[in-house]
Amino acid sequence: MLPQYSLVIPIYNEQETILELYRRVSAVMDRLDGTVELVLINDGSRDQSLKLIREIHQQDQRVCYLSFARNFGHQIAVTAGLNFARGQTVIVLDADLQDPPELIPDMVEKWRQGYQVVYAQRTQRHKETWFKRFTAYTFYRILKNLADVEIPTDTGDFCLMDRQVVDVLNSMPERNRYIRGLRAWVGFQQTAIGFERDPRFAGDVKYSFHKSLALAVNGIVSFSKVPLRLSTYIGLLSAVIAIIMALLVIYWRFFAGSSTLTGYAALIVAVFFIGAVQLVSIGILGEYIGRIYEEIKGRPLYTLAEVAGFDNKSQQSAI
Ligand code: UDP
Ligand code: MG
Repeated sequence: MLPQYSLVIPIYNEQETILELYRRVSAVMDRLDGTVELVLINDGSRDQSLKLIREIHQQDQRVCYLSFARNFGHQIAVTAGLNFARGQTVIVLDADLQDPPELIPDMVEKWRQGYQVVYAQRTQRHKETWFKRFTAYTFYRILKNLADVEIPTDTGDFCLMDRQVVDVLNSMPERNRYIRGLRAWVGFQQTAIGFERDPRFAGDVKYSFHKSLALAVNGIVSFSKVPLRLSTYIGLLSAVIAIIMALLVIYWRFFAGSSTLTGYAALIVAVFFIGAVQLVSIGILGEYIGRIYEEIKGRPLYTLAEVAGFDNKSQQSAI
């Protein structure tokens, strides 16, 4: 029989938190009013995470897991979890206990009221560096202004989704997955639930600056064409400035009686400025073209090394 709820948790080098995570999550699972499965995705961890996951699976038949053949990244891990989850309602949360599992019953309550997506919105972040808070704050606001769809600010992947929504997400073929954006794009009845983001239970942040930046660029490029237009606007602006300057030069030469024109420094600055604008524009083009290339290659999103606990065989062979 298919479970009512699926909890999807991506795990990357979380050996210090897994047991505590399981303790807190299973307490919540016991409180839920239906059958629950816990889908753990091991995203190529290099520590003891997989061993601990196997142990939990041995003890508790509600626990199933996938293990990737290497690290594919958080968004892909969540995607795989959504592919395999069988529940009528699917809840995604982080493994580090920054997303309190105790919020799940409240989310379920909202779902009962008829919402198909209930996302958790951070009202506060505890013990995260000022740099992370500042960059996250700015990024979410820029994205909100640029994106074609309304992507709510300060929401992560912690959310509850109805089966209908998960099916739509699963049917989306795109490789560069910015799940919180796709989730907003899908539509349906959505609502937020506020929470204070706890500090990590243990261990270091698994999102390096590089990974966070890649995620941010992905969010913008996947949901907005404004950067592409930006180079057109800057180009037009430079053209206008160039025309004004040309007119000024003609005026100085013929009407103001200046026989020599100086301004070597200004010239060099202008050359560098235009050079910079062109390079940035090419870079922006490159971002989009790179994405087209990724999509067109059509490689699978992830490779699985191990799958356990899903008795539905067809699902396993589908990937
Ligand atoms: N994670 C993952 N693969 C990665 C990086 C992170 O599956 O390559 C998982 C990680 O184990 C955690 C979640 O994604 O469950 C969020 O990671 P983290 O707490 O480091 O990020 P942040 O709190 O900054 O969002
Ligand atoms: Mg975290």
